[in-house]
Amino acid sequence: MTAHRTQVLVVGGGQAGLAAGYYLRRAGLDFEILDASTAPGGSWQHSWDTLRLFSPAAHSSLPGRPMPGQPGQEYPDAAHTAAYLADYEKRYDLPVTRPVRVERIEDAGDGGLLARTDSGTWHTRALVMATGTWQRPFVPALPGLHEYTGRQLHTHDYRSASEFTGQRVLVVGGGNSGAQIAADLTATATVRWATLRPPRFLPDEIDGRALFDLATRRVQGDGLRISDLGDIVATPPVRIARDAGRLAARPMFDHLDAEGAVWEDGERWPCDSIVWCTGFRPDLRPLSGLGLRGAAGRVPTDGTRALADPRIHLLGYGDWTGPASATLIGVGRTARTAVEQIADTLHRTGPGQ
Ligand code: FAD
Repeated sequence: MTAHRTQVLVVGGGQAGLAAGYYLRRAGLDFEILDASTAPGGSWQHSWDTLRLFSPAAHSSLPGRPMPGQPGQEYPDAAHTAAYLADYEKRYDLPVTRPVRVERIEDAGDGGLLARTDSGTWHTRALVMATGTWQRPFVPALPGLHEYTGRQLHTHDYRSASEFTGQRVLVVGGGNSGAQIAADLTATATVRWATLRPPRFLPDEIDGRALFDLATRRVQGDGLRISDLGDIVATPPVRIARDAGRLAARPMFDHLDAEGAVWEDGERWPCDSIVWCTGFRPDLRPLSGLGLRGAAGRVPTDGTRALADPRIHLLGYGDWTGPASATLIGVGRTARTAVEQIADTLHRTGPGQ
């Protein structure tokens, strides 16, 4: 079967892939976006019912089109965000094909790359990986993990507190997901919240806008980090639970046994379920055959560009691929720079495919 040919291939049609598409369109490049999901919206389609953005709509926008407000909600929910992304790709007529899963990227041997997918092969001269992290939930390898007989789930699989009514639930992880899910669960369950470090709430008047402002100041070189202020945005449900004393955190336990958590001093807390809010890893599995990883297991980049293969850009995975690039408002800036570099390279190497 002959390969589809394009100048630039974007893998992933969530917010990062769409931001890349916006600038690729403006640069007049020939490009395609392949997305494994059956519907638009990236991972926002899959998150829990009460998830709220940590910034108001106007500060959660991709380039070109501001996110409209959600009636009655200062902080929009995930469904509103997914609908905004669906509208965004339609408005800019972005060429997204779905569902197509890219399984493997190979060197084509002619200066280009081949993307092998579950529905054919694409030949491209430049590649933007924008696959996000949602499909690679991370759970730390703690002692007793496999002895525990209750239910274990990750942020990835959490949907609603109603599933846990009357249960004792241990929530692990001191970031925004841990705080939001622990707060959510306190409505129906007896919750213990275990965190590696004492949770640090951002001052109530500061929300996700500060992420972007601080990232901008870092770009400008003043060295401040968001973590200098705190980790957790006090969204209204988190603030209410915290102020009612329902969000007291415990230090991390030492290990699990069959029934629950055991702390270093011997205290035990049997529980019905454990929710691991312990983060995600970049989903770069299609690149694994190219030998791009450095010693620390991460793909070393200069900005978004893979050091070992300048045809490949990594977009939206976190500060290491661009300050605030894993946020709605921050990914545009990084996408613009990545596309400028791609356009420049394609221009220098000529029109051939
Ligand atoms: P995704 O939204 O995950 O999109 C990736 C797309 O790539 C998906 O559609 C997927 O199907 C597709 N894909 C994956 N692998 C392949 C493949 N091999 N082939 C083809 N397609 C593939 N940011 C904010 O700005 N504000 C917030 O309030 C906020 N809250 C967050 C809350 C949680 C719980 C999490 C986890 C993150 C939050 N973020 C927030 C961060 C970030 O905005 C989201 O994680 C966002 O979904 C990242 O977008 P993305 O496009 O990089 O990835």
